[in-house]
Amino acid sequence: MINFKELASEYKTPLYVYDLDYMSAQYQKLKEAFKAKKSILAYAVKANSNLSVVKHFATLGAGADCVSIGEVRRAFLAGIPKYKIIFSGVGKSDDEIREAIQKDILYINVESEAELARVNLIAKELDSTCRISIRVNPNIDPKTHPYISTGLHDNKFGVDLNSAKRMYIFANNSEHLDPVGIHFHIGSQLTQLQPIRESAEIVADLVRSLQKINIELKFFDIGGGIGVKYDDETTIKPYDYAQAILGTLTALDLTVICEPGRFLTANAGYFLTKVLYEKQNGDKKFVVVDGAMNDLLRPALYGAYHKIEAITESTSEPRAVDVVGPVCESGDFFAKNYLLPELQHNDLLVIHSAGSYGFGMGSNYNTRGRSAEVAVQNGEVKLIRRRESFEDLVALELEFLED
Ligand SMILES: *Cc1c(COP(=O)(O)O)cnc(C)c1O
Repeated sequence: MINFKELASEYKTPLYVYDLDYMSAQYQKLKEAFKAKKSILAYAVKANSNLSVVKHFATLGAGADCVSIGEVRRAFLAGIPKYKIIFSGVGKSDDEIREAIQKDILYINVESEAELARVNLIAKELDSTCRISIRVNPNIDPKTHPYISTGLHDNKFGVDLNSAKRMYIFANNSEHLDPVGIHFHIGSQLTQLQPIRESAEIVADLVRSLQKINIELKFFDIGGGIGVKYDDETTIKPYDYAQAILGTLTALDLTVICEPGRFLTANAGYFLTKVLYEKQNGDKKFVVVDGAMNDLLRPALYGAYHKIEAITESTSEPRAVDVVGPVCESGDFFAKNYLLPELQHNDLLVIHSAGSYGFGMGSNYNTRGRSAEVAVQNGEVKLIRRRESFEDLVALELEFLED
């Protein structure tokens, strides 16, 4: 058990706390599920990009799925081997593509015909060959929140099947491109198996039709997206997930690449914030806390639910309150109509499931320094990012103040 009160008093609030042992357990569960085939779990760095977290996954043998060259650099810094690093995303710049080729990563996930042409050109300029994979958009409804759905033609991600086939033929004919993989990622927080199975079937069929024209791929990249429990969701079991995918790969000799983010880190993370005040406007009760949307954006961005646990001496009956932060936006809330007992100044709230898309989506809005982050492993606590100071926030602007 993590002693949140002790951590809050030692490191102050707002504070992110990550349980590295939980991350290891999740990693092993998923890895085990795929053991029937060769597999790489390429951790989706954007979920939680703290170097100590990425390094932790490197130690476990993970690869990295990156969506910017900054994340690729993080993966290198954290010790992920280059042959396990993937670079995805719809809008890679020329500079990013060039650096990825020079760094000789496993492959670039290409998301459009125009991008494929750029990669070809840049590889040619570098007198090099770039390994690529193509992101297919299988046009399957993932049955998740529209903001985190990515596998429909309405979404900006990937290419349709016909374009994909054309692109593979183009890549196969180019001396500067080496098509080694195929990729799909239909959305995040997936809780239903059927859309995943259908997508895998569509993509596996494409692999077979490419085989017939002598284009042999090595990597079957199923993206990430496996959902977790924030509230009372029924989630997919790793074993069932793996079986659904592996079932579509009969007679195909492919390495499976899975790109989990949330599954590995969401429920390993806690956001600690302290109560400042309670207030009432008419019938509406508010708990004002010291953390805000600039620390944890998900409730404001998606209306996401996070369980909140109050650490308090209070024995009062729970009442419905809005838990809000100090930022000057009505969207600055962690929960609405949430049942909490009467709270005192300095009582601690533990916001659960904050290990993914938490700190990383943070900002300095309202000139608020971002929270500190600590990691807990085997009962040991380590500060892995110090709290941002006012000086940190203005450092880049001060340079211009002189004249
Ligand atoms: C965001 C993303 C992931 C990770 O998604 P999770 O829902 O956190 O597992 C994996 N692959 C790609 C291409 C992504 O964009």
